Amino acid sequence: MNHPADAPSPAPSDFIRDVVAGDAQAGKYRKIVTRFPPEPNGYLHIGHAKSICLNFGIAREFGGVCHLRMDDTNPAKEDVEYVDSITADVNWLISGFADQCLGLKVKGAAPEGRLVDGRQDFYLGEAPAGAAVEPFYASDYFDQIYQFAVQLIRQGKAFVCDMNAEQIDEYRRTGKASPFRDRSVEENLDLFTRMKNGEFPEGSHTLRAKISVDAPNIWMRDPLIYRIRHVEHHHTGAAWCIYPMYDFAHCLSDYIEGVTHSICTLEFEVHRPLYDWILEALNLPRPLPHQYEFARLNLTYTVMSKRKLMQLVNERLVSGWDDPRMPTISGIRRRGVHARALRDFAYHIGITKYDGLTEVGVLDHAIRDDLNRIALRKLAVLRPVKIVLTNLDADYFEEFDAVNNPADPQGGTRKVPFTRELFIDADDFMEVPPPKYFRLRPGGEVRLKYGYIIKCEEVVKAADGGIAELRCTVDLTTKRGGVNEGRKCKGTIHWVSASHAIDAEVRLYDRLFTVPEPDAEGNFKAHLNPHSLEVVTAKCEPSLAAASPEERYQFERLAYFALDPDTKPGHLVFNRTITLKDAWAKEQKK
Ligand code: ATP
Ligand code: MG
Repeated sequence: MNHPADAPSPAPSDFIRDVVAGDAQAGKYRKIVTRFPPEPNGYLHIGHAKSICLNFGIAREFGGVCHLRMDDTNPAKEDVEYVDSITADVNWLISGFADQCLGLKVKGAAPEGRLVDGRQDFYLGEAPAGAAVEPFYASDYFDQIYQFAVQLIRQGKAFVCDMNAEQIDEYRRTGKASPFRDRSVEENLDLFTRMKNGEFPEGSHTLRAKISVDAPNIWMRDPLIYRIRHVEHHHTGAAWCIYPMYDFAHCLSDYIEGVTHSICTLEFEVHRPLYDWILEALNLPRPLPHQYEFARLNLTYTVMSKRKLMQLVNERLVSGWDDPRMPTISGIRRRGVHARALRDFAYHIGITKYDGLTEVGVLDHAIRDDLNRIALRKLAVLRPVKIVLTNLDADYFEEFDAVNNPADPQGGTRKVPFTRELFIDADDFMEVPPPKYFRLRPGGEVRLKYGYIIKCEEVVKAADGGIAELRCTVDLTTKRGGVNEGRKCKGTIHWVSASHAIDAEVRLYDRLFTVPEPDAEGNFKAHLNPHSLEVVTAKCEPSLAAASPEERYQFERLAYFALDPDTKPGHLVFNRTITLKDAWAKEQKK
């Protein structure tokens, strides 16, 4: 479907885009190249969405390219499950948006014409429109990164250290020189080769850059650049038993891929001198990539680190990474949110240098805005109460024309059957209503959406004291076009014909946490919302039998819904994507 909402949003402006624009104008690089570099040790969350939109957005706006790169240098925590989910999530998020990022590495497009200035040129083949993004892997560069380490050793800028992790930590903290700092180049080369050949146990040796013993920035105090790990790697198998550290692998992967602007979150600001030192020390041909930092996204009513999200999954506090209550991209998608709503959110919040907390209401607004435009209106009753219209014959049948989407003039209409027995929502009837209750009450009137005014004549109780049925009368002159069409009636409620309604399992999701900052005291699990999921069997208008996963629905007067993948033939499952109004804001004003 080609919807106006698919048109690219106007490009935002921020301090990083200003830098890129300046560099582009000065002709500093042949092409602007950015990258999004997740570690495949968990599923992506909405914070990553901000980074994806920034990096792919800049590539798109400046006629450049953006690489999805698995930052896979720590095999113990990584897994192909995560590689696959990350790749799927990125593709979903940038679909309809990526075609303009020329030269994405795509399936089947072999990176020919490799080395340019010692770098791989990945951009000879340009991505066909709609092509899927395929990941790059830092681990594909292990050979080159190893060679760079050897070069550093040869230059006297790296040494093999025999201290264990605690000793190294302590020496670095207190600004003391490692006793192995002045080993000869030959000895270092020999030891590093033997590390690579698997002659040493884990933790016995590391390779460290020889920068400074006591620099004010602790990251510059002879940092580790290689360590021994006798662990198979999900991508390189058993080829290696030494792995480069993040700081060493990252700048070099950027360099190898020809990245120009390496954009990351603020916590890496203190690593930037090391990033620059490594590239400078190796005397690499210019131009070099540069690192820029922005504030990460923090969102109210959720937690946003892979480690904490993993706890929720492992302790079965949610149904999985893609539980619709999770702030993961896969969870948000499963809830029924469109990628463009997430992109609009990411654009709207902007890019700054200052850490802050974004109200989840901003995300909710982007979701509602999108769904309001495209959702098909449907009648569905979540907690059914039976209505019997006593002045109609048992076989009375009529169909109303109902507008599919008032926001879409081309959206058309559908037929909604009307009969003697209906269901309405329990919320829309009160025996003893408070003032200003304009829904149904004993002796009161209400209008049925698309239809007539009815009046409640009698409440029939069940044996358990609940309501068995409401016996009502209908005024058939009050329909659109009827003589009493204009008769005033303050409330309008939704309903379905009892004999035509179809059942659906409806999952009513709410916020996962009850407080705006669940992890403020470090015990986020204490603030889990015990009512974050309620499951009901709803009565739905018959047209929903043809519901499809691509469509979105507004159950009128209730909320937006999307079909869940748990749907099976004869068993519909809907997820509540978001309520129509912000119930939480209302709650707080009370
Ligand atoms: P987490 O802290 O949630 O475990 P991470 O930073 O370890 O995430 P990575 O896989 O290293 O996750 O992140 C990939 C990229 O996404 C990095 O460039 C990182 O800076 C960025 N990123 C991670 N979290 C956020 C966030 N909340 N907001 C914006 N960007 C983020
Ligand atoms: Mg990280």
